[in-house]
Amino acid sequence: MPLPDRFADLHCHPSFKAVLMKGRGLDPQRSAWHALKLGAEPGKTRDRVFMSQSCLSQLHAGRVNLVVAPVYGLERAFTRSNILQLVAALAEKIDHRFIQDIKHGKHAYVDLMRMDLNALNAFPTDPNNGGQHARVLSSIAEFDPDSSDVQVILALEGGHNFYGRQANGDDDVSLDTIHHNLDEFKQPGGPRALYLTPTHLARNVFGNHCYGVKMIRDQEFFPNGHGLTPMGRDLIARALDTSDGRRRILIDIKHMSLQMRIDFYRMRWDLPGGDRIPILCSHAGVTGISQGQVFRYVDGWYKPLFQEHINVRYIKPKGIDGCEFNPWSINLYDEDIYQIIASRGIIGLSLDERILGSGRVAMERMSPLEAFKPSRYQMTFLDDRETEDGEVDVERTVKQLCATLLHVVRIGTHAPNADPWDHVCLGSDYDGLINAVNPAPTAESMGELVRAMAAALPPMAQRAGIAIGDVEEKLHRFFFGNMLRFLRQHFN
Ligand SMILES: [Zn+2]
Ligand SMILES: [Zn+2]
Repeated sequence: MPLPDRFADLHCHPSFKAVLMKGRGLDPQRSAWHALKLGAEPGKTRDRVFMSQSCLSQLHAGRVNLVVAPVYGLERAFTRSNILQLVAALAEKIDHRFIQDIKHGKHAYVDLMRMDLNALNAFPTDPNNGGQHARVLSSIAEFDPDSSDVQVILALEGGHNFYGRQANGDDDVSLDTIHHNLDEFKQPGGPRALYLTPTHLARNVFGNHCYGVKMIRDQEFFPNGHGLTPMGRDLIARALDTSDGRRRILIDIKHMSLQMRIDFYRMRWDLPGGDRIPILCSHAGVTGISQGQVFRYVDGWYKPLFQEHINVRYIKPKGIDGCEFNPWSINLYDEDIYQIIASRGIIGLSLDERILGSGRVAMERMSPLEAFKPSRYQMTFLDDRETEDGEVDVERTVKQLCATLLHVVRIGTHAPNADPWDHVCLGSDYDGLINAVNPAPTAESMGELVRAMAAALPPMAQRAGIAIGDVEEKLHRFFFGNMLRFLRQHFN
């Protein structure tokens, strides 16, 4: 069997950067088709993070014909730092006035989310290349496997997308407003979303999130809650509800804190038909360990003066072939992998180097109500110095991705009546402010990524004692087949 030559991605953001540009993605020269190139300093992580990775023309060039694109309103906390203005790749074209308006709360999150949606829909044909097309699907029956079009399914990242705006400028988080804004995606005839990620990177009313933004120090990014809130339960129940012809929106556990994930797993059993609702994690990495083992990997913790959060420093868990994982709680513990595969859900693997465990691991900031404090070990008092991500070696990053895939398969083997190779796919998180793995810095390089994985996987699987069989066939499932099958079951 030849290697896969077309691809599906469970999580990328083709229009996100276009929305920040002058014209909000509605200008033909700065649309979701337009690729922002690297700035003057291509070696800078910051520029690699901000160049386009999965704009529509890049997806088209990389033969990524089936993508799930979560729409999203940029959290205000991002605009309080100057990071967006400092990025060379963005500097000339970014709409500075718009960023200031977001910062000062002039736009409701629901309106920012709609701008993302509008930018995605604005140009079904590439304004600069009439031969390239993209379209949004409202059911998988509309998918044409023989077409070279970029075929997009919507999703929703962050429950904050449903916040309105009050007259005094505060967020409107009343249940009525949230229901109204969510229901737009639930009614036949409106836009349809495959999944909802209830939390994102900043504090929200639905539950505690995991720390994920290291490059900006803003309180809003530091978790301070505990598990799922009553509003979070309401949001999840309403998203999943199928009564009166309402369309189900599945729940993506990415960005939910560990306690919130546990609360959701319990809640799911109590919902009507809950055992048949699949659990997703759309752009995941793994910790490589069980929840019960985490204390062994906590090197120390401390509470910074005048701060609410707790800093946790880890030792990195080891994987296959000397690979190491990132033990931050944003990544999946073995129990999460088991829950997802036993639910016949799907795990999209992120291509973010940091999530895959490359380099040194920085401290995780955690809510004092959820922080891992090693009680059985002597507490270490740490200074406030940050650990920095180390140099990344190219071959190593492919191995990290393969080690993550093999770890999912190894843990998933324990799930009853499921072949773990069927429940894992690509969920790149391109254009989600990631530093992507080296063989595939953008969606155009899927061919290189698949070749690198085809070479790395068999010897790694053998050393790990995992029967891989036909590697090409496994890669077909990972890069296309699994996602298509999942969509045929849950998005018809
Ligand atoms: Zn995300
Ligand atoms: Zn995302």
